[in-house]
Amino acid sequence: MSIAVATSLCTLIVCLSPLSAAQQSSSDKDHAPPPLEVDGVIGIPIDILSIQAEVVFDLETRTAMAKADVRFEMTADGMPLFDLRQKIAKLSCNGVELDPELVSSHKTGAGGARIRLLQKELAAGTQHLLHFEYPLLKPNSPRAQDIGWGDGTLDWDFFFSDLNWGRYMEMWFPANLIYDRFKFDMDLKINGATDDHQIVSNGDVTEVEKQKHWQLSFPATFAAFSHMLVVVPDHKVTRSASKVKVGDRTIHLDVCKLNTAKTSLQDIHKQTADYLKEFSKSTAMWPHGDRCTVFVWTGGRSMEYDGATTTSMGALGHELFHSWFGRGLKPVSQNDGWWDEAWTVWFADGGRKSPKDIPAKGSPVELSSPNPYNRTTNMLAYQMGSLFYSRLAKELGEKELMKLMAEFFNKYYATGASTEDMAQFLYAKTQNDQVLQLFHRYIYGKEGSVMDKKNR
Ligand SMILES: [Zn+2]
Repeated sequence: MSIAVATSLCTLIVCLSPLSAAQQSSSDKDHAPPPLEVDGVIGIPIDILSIQAEVVFDLETRTAMAKADVRFEMTADGMPLFDLRQKIAKLSCNGVELDPELVSSHKTGAGGARIRLLQKELAAGTQHLLHFEYPLLKPNSPRAQDIGWGDGTLDWDFFFSDLNWGRYMEMWFPANLIYDRFKFDMDLKINGATDDHQIVSNGDVTEVEKQKHWQLSFPATFAAFSHMLVVVPDHKVTRSASKVKVGDRTIHLDVCKLNTAKTSLQDIHKQTADYLKEFSKSTAMWPHGDRCTVFVWTGGRSMEYDGATTTSMGALGHELFHSWFGRGLKPVSQNDGWWDEAWTVWFADGGRKSPKDIPAKGSPVELSSPNPYNRTTNMLAYQMGSLFYSRLAKELGEKELMKLMAEFFNKYYATGASTEDMAQFLYAKTQNDQVLQLFHRYIYGKEGSVMDKKNR
């Protein structure tokens, strides 16, 4: 992460309107990967309509039990694909109990990533209800973090990551790949606590029973990488609220910080307000209604969520800018995750190179994998991806590129965007063949000219 620098590009502030459920569902299906032929079976991407989950933590026995009901629709005839990085104890489909062994795990061929498949043939267009029960344990995903069991206290952070596969909602609850958006509701209980806890989330949180039972509700615009949740003992944190006026909008800031983080709450509120104003001016109005949730800690790991972040202070600007590029305008597959890191580094972290510092041609770089089941953002996205935008800026001019990317945001924020959407948008606006050539070499990693058919 690097410290953000100020930018000042004035563009029109556009009012953003939410999608209807029907519009949303059809654009989700449009972005689904093709059926997956693996281990002699054909897996079909599904469209999740809603997930209702429940988790009960027992702090005396240091155990947690989870349940989840997943309503979904098949996009074609075949066996449904989804993921869950927990060991399923009980399973039923449409009320009929099934052997959990019917949920198999398959390698997708991309960086060791696996995906789950229910070995049950279902018809295209039909809707179904899967019910899961399982003990909630440390997720079986690369570099996942365990539940933090204290003496009568609980530390639990969803702790999503785009740099390892299987590190979104599927760590804790059944979920889909990121092309799909769905309503998610969760019932959370903590039994046996000896300290109060703070529930910090970008969902709506209702306390049902004081310090014991909460209901969390996340909107249908969220995909598996959108949801932020931190459960933390009260004595470890300080929390306060403020309001910031951005244009004609009043945004409520919910800021919580670990007591070990040296920055003051006041400073976090001030810096967050400044970033929201700056990016609302340079890209588009804050695209997450009237709320922004910030959790600050020490150390290097920081993560973006829809209208929220868990972050170190050094990465605050970077993570907040992702609420525009990344979790406002969302990549529709992990192969499109490169642009949210690359553009954020270039735009918000001061990653712009002056034309004289841009190296000559160099080797092709593949930041967007051709495997539609890839589930990891390439680490090169930060450095080589921002260099790609410097090359584009050299071709188009910095101000023109920033104006076009703000327009791109406004055109696609409601549906999400792919790498090819971006390439074709920038080409259509500029009619500059070099735009497509830069994508060809530095994003798709191909030699030769894009104009030459054999290289496409
Ligand atoms: Zn980032």
